[in-house]
Amino acid sequence: MKIKDILAKGQPTLSFEVFPPKEESNFASVEKAALEIAKLNPSFMSVTYGAGGGTSQYTVQIASDIQSTCQVPALSHLTCVSSTREKVHSVLREIQAHGIENVLALRGDIPKDGKVEKDYQYASQLIREIRETCPELCIGAACYPEGHVESVNKTVDIGHLKEKVEAGCDFVTTQMFFDNNILYNYLYRIREKGITVPVVAGIMPVTNISQIKRICSMSGTYLPARFKAIVDRFGDNPAAMKQAGIAYATEQIIDLIANHVNGIHVYSMNKPDVAAQIKNNLSEIL
Ligand code: FAD
Repeated sequence: MKIKDILAKGQPTLSFEVFPPKEESNFASVEKAALEIAKLNPSFMSVTYGAGGGTSQYTVQIASDIQSTCQVPALSHLTCVSSTREKVHSVLREIQAHGIENVLALRGDIPKDGKVEKDYQYASQLIREIRETCPELCIGAACYPEGHVESVNKTVDIGHLKEKVEAGCDFVTTQMFFDNNILYNYLYRIREKGITVPVVAGIMPVTNISQIKRICSMSGTYLPARFKAIVDRFGDNPAAMKQAGIAYATEQIIDLIANHVNGIHVYSMNKPDVAAQIKNNLSEIL
């Protein structure tokens, strides 16, 4: 099923993200976790593609297994900056051959050594190409309520988001944020610029302190005082931090749904227990 049709129903949706293994030796454990999360029957599940500028040979396989084993619609991520056009199209053929109808089209991070292929510079080019060559695919893109790290300011970044929408993307998913007011302000600004596609809110349940250090160093995401107090108080108690992190994410989600942000995407980090607790916390709300 296409994600744009799921979102068009206007009901709250809860979806989860998993990431593929880097090594074949970890494939079985990642697949097990992904299928456990899929058994929670989310609205859809996304599978990331590489990280830090890499590619991934397992994304489509895991996405396909989620769909065929648990009948949960899958969203296969695809980045372009580290790939040739030939490679991108071979992955697109694989996606379609496995009956996957949704792709999240991304530029990808610039690798640390700066080495990129020459065929694509921006996600908008990939989106336009998918729209032209695979018109039956539902296309998603990334957006950044706090602005993308490389962007000079939010206004410029919103201009580039508009290019992605005009290139043919059907919905966008946000980077994580920990203060809902940032999203509400962003939604106001993008709607004002005529961007009307559905926006799915990306929520990260922070369940351990190393995750927070990584988040801050990579994306500069704003951490509200209320969130910092939780980390200060519970950061060195893993069980308490996990409970508090899940509670914080749950509160964020309830506030979003109460304010009619219906699409909720949880960065579940391959943790079935975290996904299950969040779903359970929302049992009467969804
Ligand atoms: P783009 O939309 O191309 O934007 C990149 C930068 O270029 C921005 O600063 C933008 O403002 C600027 N820009 C865009 N167009 C132009 C233009 N015409 N002229 C000048 N500047 C321009 N990474 C992975 O490796 N794998 C994943 O699976 C993955 N999944 C993600 C899922 C979500 C929901 C999000 C939010 C991010 C994900 N990422 C993933 C990270 C993403 O690849 C990085 O944030 C990357 O740096 C930007 O990708 P993009 O598709 O947003 O790029």
